[in-house]
Amino acid sequence: MFTVNHVLPGVRHITDAMGVSFTLVEGSNRAILFDTGYGMEDVKAYVETLTDKPVTVYLSHGHHDHMLGARWFGKAFLCAEDLEEFIERTGEGQRTKVMKQAQEQQVPVPEDFMTVPIARPEAICFTGKTGSFESKYEELGNLEVLVIKVPGHTPGSIVLYVPAYDLLLTGDDWNPCTWMWFPTSDSANLWRERMKELIRTLEEEYGRSIRHVICSHRPMMREGNEIRGFLEYVTDRRMKEAPAIDMGAPINTHEIRNDEKDWQLIFDQDKIKEEGQ
Ligand SMILES: [Zn+2]
Repeated sequence: MFTVNHVLPGVRHITDAMGVSFTLVEGSNRAILFDTGYGMEDVKAYVETLTDKPVTVYLSHGHHDHMLGARWFGKAFLCAEDLEEFIERTGEGQRTKVMKQAQEQQVPVPEDFMTVPIARPEAICFTGKTGSFESKYEELGNLEVLVIKVPGHTPGSIVLYVPAYDLLLTGDDWNPCTWMWFPTSDSANLWRERMKELIRTLEEEYGRSIRHVICSHRPMMREGNEIRGFLEYVTDRRMKEAPAIDMGAPINTHEIRNDEKDWQLIFDQDKIKEEGQ
């Protein structure tokens, strides 16, 4: 079952039965679906109940919880740097893990889940630059969306920006619970500086502060102030002093928490660079 929050005109944030969220952004001519979730149910059929416009699918990055639902669409776009991740995480090993997880959550698994082919996404062709970031515009009809490559959570992570609403869609590049501990993730301090640069660049370019943020692991829209506060909170010092946390992987995972704000950053401490401290 899907649930949907109609957060802004033409912007619907959808959450699937496994608990991951993705977003439909609709203009007067066409729409973008940003991510597809785990795909245990027919995402395309559901999206068609929300819009009658043609839908272009963009995948925020190559992790299974965002792109297994691409099976329901003929075509999707992904940053070239995450194609390898996509292949790995649509493979048998990952599907087996996801199937187990679904069964534990008592989410029905489609019969063809293990075998259904998932078309390899087309690489996003960036046509311009926003500050130092590669980007491209998508005109949806009275609504413009900027697609921006922001390596961090994975090398091919993208975010969307909707200037009309001062709205940033971060995918997994930022969540109140941000996971930066994957083998292909950047060091947490490099990621933090890049996110700050992104926000600075967008605010300079459009002359306004980011007001709204939509991320993939929360069903509700967030405030721009929250991401700014989070990035200020995860200082080099807190990264150095963060206690270890066992994520069940042979990675030197450490955690910064702020229970009052419900924030968490999990990162690989081995990747933290010493310079500039
Ligand atoms: Zn991810």
